[in-house]
Amino acid sequence: MRYFPLFLDLAGRPALLVGGGEVAARKFALLHDAGAKVTVIAPELGTEMRAALERGEIVHHPRAFAAADIEGFWLVVAATDQRDVNAAVAAAANAVRIPCNVVDDRELSSFIMPAIIDRSPVQIAVSTGGTSPVLARLIRERLETLLDGSLGTLAAFADRWREAVRRKFADIGARRRFLSWMLTGPVAASLRAGRTQQAEDLTRSALEKDDALPHGHVVLVGAGPGNAGLMTLLGLRALQEADVIVHDRLVSPEVLDLARRDAARFDVGKFVGGGGATQEEINELLVEHAQRGEYVVRLKGGDPFVFGRGGEEIDFLRRHEVSYEVIPGITAAIAAGAYAGVPLTDRRHAQAVRFLTGNSDEQLAQFNFADLAAGRETLAFYMSVGKLNALRDKLLLSGVQGNMPVAFIENASRAEQRVMVSSVEAMHRDAVMQKLKAPAMLIIGGVAATAAELQWFGRQALAGSHRA
Ligand code: SAH
Repeated sequence: MRYFPLFLDLAGRPALLVGGGEVAARKFALLHDAGAKVTVIAPELGTEMRAALERGEIVHHPRAFAAADIEGFWLVVAATDQRDVNAAVAAAANAVRIPCNVVDDRELSSFIMPAIIDRSPVQIAVSTGGTSPVLARLIRERLETLLDGSLGTLAAFADRWREAVRRKFADIGARRRFLSWMLTGPVAASLRAGRTQQAEDLTRSALEKDDALPHGHVVLVGAGPGNAGLMTLLGLRALQEADVIVHDRLVSPEVLDLARRDAARFDVGKFVGGGGATQEEINELLVEHAQRGEYVVRLKGGDPFVFGRGGEEIDFLRRHEVSYEVIPGITAAIAAGAYAGVPLTDRRHAQAVRFLTGNSDEQLAQFNFADLAAGRETLAFYMSVGKLNALRDKLLLSGVQGNMPVAFIENASRAEQRVMVSSVEAMHRDAVMQKLKAPAMLIIGGVAATAAELQWFGRQALAGSHRA
């Protein structure tokens, strides 16, 4: 360990900054944030430092640095563009053993500054030992994405309850389990949702109860269409906290790879001998684990509320007094449009888009396709690959032209994506010929024809028998 990391309490303590330019201004901002009383020595101040002076945030001595200036400070930062001045500051500081940083000069510095992630009171400092500030910054950016903005609120909340928790649990193991419940479960969720009172109430009643752990928490997470990059940051964070993951068959291995390694996993698409779990079994699985105090992620393909039965699940959770959150995902229609080069509401062809499913004959019978026939609408069909014959007949019967373009997008956003452009009349024949398989989206409307030219991802679009 080349450098010793520490967090220094500078609140109300004098710090010296030598230099008045832009670089000095950045260091000033940090020192000021930490509550230091900053004295600046510099013949002249740049715009930002002048503004700080006007706000009364610094004491300024408009002259050159002299060795005697160093006395009485807790910390010194040299930020001039003259190496001899910086060296003189460092020498003076070393002589009286005051820690001194010379900006961008590891050799002259007795301490170096880390890249900082500030979720006060939580702070993370990253250092590469001065070898590569750029790398430290990259690391910081990666960490930033993993850390919720509500982390600071959560830490402050936990701090307020620390005494009460300590009094309640003499046993360290029990205390840890409680705190981990508090930091990941319904309490944390309430804070994220901006419901502080609810968080207080939950904590209080959990501390009053004598039995084991209070209820855990269920997060419905939209996994998106399969490409792991299309997960949301919130979804990713949930996956990394999960005790239990209950996922569909549609969720790609790539997405599951992002989850916490030691989370228990249930593939409810392959339950009971490959048949798939019933909705009741899934509901009960979620409640059962939440009631054990666990943090459960219900991971669904696309968006949980678009043909995803998310509504039924949270209804069941609510009836069993299990807290929940819903994190949206990119639904297949949106992904298919983007990855196949089909702008769903391109104003030259459509002014609306409808999400539909042609899963059953009854569903198909109910639709009215007049707007599509009139060229004002785009239709995005989910789960319809097995119903193409019936769908074609219904469309033609509604007055839709036989040459209305249709785009099939199989495995949208995934490496194995296939796009095929066809027409209403030919769509069944083309799909059979190309052996189209689920999961696939069907996009019908004037916009669908653009897939032939605008598609940019994966294999080139296959032209069916459609002729524009
Ligand atoms: N909740 C999901 C939809 C579940 S229904 C969502 O919002 O996307 C399942 C159907 O979604 C599949 O039959 C298929 O039509 C569609 N689908 C899901 N992922 C897909 C993908 N990567 N490419 C094409 N279609 C997909």
